[in-house]
Amino acid sequence: MANKLNLLIMGPAGSGKGTQSEKIVEKFDVVHLSTGDMFRAAISNQTEAGKKASEFIDQGLLVPDEITIALVEERLMQADVQEKGYLLDGFPRTIGQAEALSQLLAKIQMPLNLIIDLKVDEKLLVERISGRRMCEVCGTIYHITYNPPAVSGVCDLDGGKLYQRSDDNEAGLKVRLAEYNKSTAPIIGYYGDSVEVIEVDASQTVDQVFASIDTKLESLLND
Ligand SMILES: [Zn+2]
Repeated sequence: MANKLNLLIMGPAGSGKGTQSEKIVEKFDVVHLSTGDMFRAAISNQTEAGKKASEFIDQGLLVPDEITIALVEERLMQADVQEKGYLLDGFPRTIGQAEALSQLLAKIQMPLNLIIDLKVDEKLLVERISGRRMCEVCGTIYHITYNPPAVSGVCDLDGGKLYQRSDDNEAGLKVRLAEYNKSTAPIIGYYGDSVEVIEVDASQTVDQVFASIDTKLESLLND
């Protein structure tokens, strides 16, 4: 029986990973370890890793693994993770990062107990991605059709301005999808039988997708 949920959620851009993560965190009170949020926090707090990361981000470059891993390690060591369990979102992105993560998790003795793998077809991804808007303050994700804010262009939570990522278009999506299929999807194979994987059809509605995840998480906790 799992007394804590130690989770990894995977899925390409537009699979609804961010939205499902928010719902999981809300219901199961695990710590959301999103690399996007961790980078935003580290950069605005001007931590060592944050300063290093922003040098790369400002130039439009990928942040090197060692900086990302240092950031994740720093966060995993904090007390709330030990207390509540975690949901990794956006990390690991490569098998190299997955190997580093295995070492970090062994160190804190909190191995993964489930991978949630969101599957969705490419055409639907294009539609989802091109309508996506993100709050520049808190990073909350909206969709102009499926999940619009109360006031167009403005975050419901903090009044922050919503922006569209410059690569949230069909061409940008194709590049990210190819990268995902090449580098990130093989992570499932890396874990092999050592971690349970649940595949969820993410072309369903947000509530249907969450219902599948919810049932699985409840059974993990009550097994
Ligand atoms: Zn906001």
